[in-house]
Amino acid sequence: MKPAPFSYSRPTTLEEALADLAADPDAKVLAGGQSLVPLLSMRLAAPSALVDINAVPGLDHVRADEEGVRVGALARHAAVMADPAARRVQPLVSLALERVAHPTIRNRGTTVGSLVHADASAEMPVVLVLLGGSITAASATGTRTIEAADLYVGPLESTLRHDEIATEAFFPALPDDAGVAFDEIARRHGDYALCGVAAVVRADEAGTITSVRAGYLSVSDLPTVVDLSEAFAAGAVDEASLDAAADLALASLEPAADIHATADYRAHLARVLTKRVVRQAHDDCTARREGDA
Ligand SMILES: Cc1cc2nc3c(=O)[nH]c(=O)nc-3n(C[C@H](O)[C@H](O)[C@H](O)COP(=O)(O)OP(=O)(O)OC[C@H]3O[C@@H](n4cnc5c(N)ncnc54)[C@H](O)[C@@H]3O)c2cc1C
Repeated sequence: MKPAPFSYSRPTTLEEALADLAADPDAKVLAGGQSLVPLLSMRLAAPSALVDINAVPGLDHVRADEEGVRVGALARHAAVMADPAARRVQPLVSLALERVAHPTIRNRGTTVGSLVHADASAEMPVVLVLLGGSITAASATGTRTIEAADLYVGPLESTLRHDEIATEAFFPALPDDAGVAFDEIARRHGDYALCGVAAVVRADEAGTITSVRAGYLSVSDLPTVVDLSEAFAAGAVDEASLDAAADLALASLEPAADIHATADYRAHLARVLTKRVVRQAHDDCTARREGDA
């Protein structure tokens, strides 16, 4: 199918892009086009105008320092994934990006575009929420920071306003006492996951667990983070604590059925992946402390 007619602008400054966006309440930002263009082609979206931000300079950065990783609106998934400093400062970002679609889509799609597209089946929104990150949103009237916890409000729905461009995402650095892991089950590598789980495990110098948090994608309507720490109150990761963590996770999740999986199957995947990923994140935490990661 062909898209419905729309007007198209390719501004060369952020101010111009914001003015174009503010001028038309039905306009949409075009970044990598890897979600928007299929929606246009299927006529699931029919904006009156596209504001293509690809010619706006200064938006394709990936910067990592001791605070965390900052990703500009035009940084492609592939560039973020391959950035060695980003991988060192916050390894969960690259670990999750390895599961985003296929290389051709990662070469074009942007990480910020994925974050604001707000798909609960996508990898990066749940990573942002789990890590307590944020996005910077610019409009013709100013700039604001939206914390990840306030960003997602419904299926494909974020609190980014129509007249705003997300210029940057911020992923906080991995603390010294933490380890991370990410895994998902998909029908084929690169497909959207039937269920995915990311985990951050923290432990003190004696190796005693102090905090375990996990994020779930493709399970509910929103990227969902569950604090599993109480399952590890005894301080160790063993079969009993992992079972308790999976129970705790399932009590907070409401796995949904769709054409790809029943709710029961999703719950089963969430259980298996919770145990697997928490164990891996704990191993990662230990390896980092011993200088092996
Ligand atoms: C076959 C296929 C498989 C895929 N598989 C996966 C997958 O497994 N996991 C996954 O996470 N993703 C997957 N994707 C989506 C891909 O990751 C996209 O890159 C991503 O969803 C959107 O980024 P984009 O830059 O392409 O955004 P676009 O398609 O250009 O835009 C998407 C939406 O975000 C808005 N937007 C984009 N950038 C901004 C901005 N800076 N400010 C304000 N609004 C903005 C647009 O207006 C639009 O509403 C897949 C895509 C395809 C085509």
